[in-house]
Amino acid sequence: MNNYKNNINAVYERIHKALERAGREPDDITLIAVTKNIDIDVIKEAVSYGIADLGENRVQELLSKYNKVQDVRWHMIGRLQSNKVKHIVDKVALIHSLDRLSLAREINKRAERIQRVVPVLVQVNPAGEKTKAGLPYEEVIPFIETIFNLKYIKIMGLMFIAPLTDNPEAVRPYFAMMKHLFDVLKDYNYPHVDMKYLSMGMTNDFEIAIEEGSNMVRIGTALFGSREKEEK
Ligand SMILES: *Cc1c(COP(=O)(O)O)cnc(C)c1O
Repeated sequence: MNNYKNNINAVYERIHKALERAGREPDDITLIAVTKNIDIDVIKEAVSYGIADLGENRVQELLSKYNKVQDVRWHMIGRLQSNKVKHIVDKVALIHSLDRLSLAREINKRAERIQRVVPVLVQVNPAGEKTKAGLPYEEVIPFIETIFNLKYIKIMGLMFIAPLTDNPEAVRPYFAMMKHLFDVLKDYNYPHVDMKYLSMGMTNDFEIAIEEGSNMVRIGTALFGSREKEEK
């Protein structure tokens, strides 16, 4: 049996300790509960304990849950096909997975139609993992310079999925690289860009991500237990 309330409290405690180690304010972070493959009743229970941000990595699943939970912000954290943008453009608080020009154009187009400026994060792949989405590290600045004039997209930060490893210390340098890039972009003060969120850190590595400057963590397993029916 899972005790979700205890899990949530334990995660918050670990987050706060990591913030403390980094000398940061206790509320300088957003916890996104990743609810892929999690039943709606469990999600509602978590929301009743104060969870306010939910992350899904598939459009269909997000849509199937969207009307069943009130007063939460939905985050699209998974690979996003251009032809599915229209289904979520009015629903998501933040798209974390912008990784190509064609997708930026499609989000901008659909957002213009409903006259909504859609907040997005640029997904980065500093480890150069072939199996992962995200722009190569050195392409991020040119990419942002290409898209910041799209008026219906607001670039609000960067997102990173660290390589899976038994030793999370091994990925610390990538988190540090992400923080560096985030700070550089912040200093550039581009139009339509408001570098506010650095989305990195999952169950296996969120404490290290926070120590290195993450202010948005996406956590599933530590809150809900392992996802039995997960597909690859
Ligand atoms: C599944 C997922 C997570 C959460 O992973 P856990 O290891 O269960 O915490 C975070 N981010 C993305 C993009 C995911 O797909």
